[in-house]
Amino acid sequence: VELEMARLERLRIVGELAATIGHEVRNPLASVRGFLQLLRDKKDCQNYKRYYDLMIEELDRANAIITDFLALAKNKRVEKEMQNINSLLLNHYPLLQADGLKGNKQIVLELGTVPDLLLDAKEMRQLIINLVRNGLEAMSAGGRMVIRTTLEKGEVVLAIQDDGCGIDPDAMDKLGTPFFTTKDNGTGLGLAVCYSIVARHNAYLTVDSGPGGTTFAVRFKLSH
Ligand code: ADP
Ligand code: MG
Repeated sequence: VELEMARLERLRIVGELAATIGHEVRNPLASVRGFLQLLRDKKDCQNYKRYYDLMIEELDRANAIITDFLALAKNKRVEKEMQNINSLLLNHYPLLQADGLKGNKQIVLELGTVPDLLLDAKEMRQLIINLVRNGLEAMSAGGRMVIRTTLEKGEVVLAIQDDGCGIDPDAMDKLGTPFFTTKDNGTGLGLAVCYSIVARHNAYLTVDSGPGGTTFAVRFKLSH
């Protein structure tokens, strides 16, 4: 009976996911179609530049949803190699900094001495980008983010600390649930992807949030 329940639960989740994905991707496609029709009929020539911009935005959105969703796919091939999380952070720092500068937000690296870990570089890149973007999106102009690595009690800790709006206590339980978002243009898939990446790396994620900001920490266990 329990097996049957688990199967039904899985089917329910898949059904829910399929419905949401369909809906989320169809919306931007419908907008693009609408703009194309307007342009074809040339009813509104003055606005054509704006229409192109909106179409690009909508296509980017559909693409973001699909990219995040694919990252959630199970049994993905992971290619892990012994490497240092600090060098990955240094590699991606210019990109992250550029993201921050758009909103006049500063990102500071505080890298401690940490041992190498078995990491999939592509997955780490996505994990870092997802967490940093969330932090930046929560911050106001002039804000400051610290990305820190430390060695704590047999764990390598990668902490991303923002001075943003914090997370509502009600929202805490929902973090990582696919499609949970409080943003107008959010996919609600970023954290779900982070949780799945972390689970493939003998690591776990902790969240600490208050009115002064939020810290997400990825904790890599050194021994099994
Ligand atoms: P999205 O960013 O598309 O909304 P995520 O899965 O990345 O989806 O995040 C889900 C929700 O978690 C966000 O909408 C936001 O409410 C909350 N959240 C995540 N990270 C932070 C953060 N650093 N500060 C405040 N809220 C956050
Ligand atoms: Mg996000």
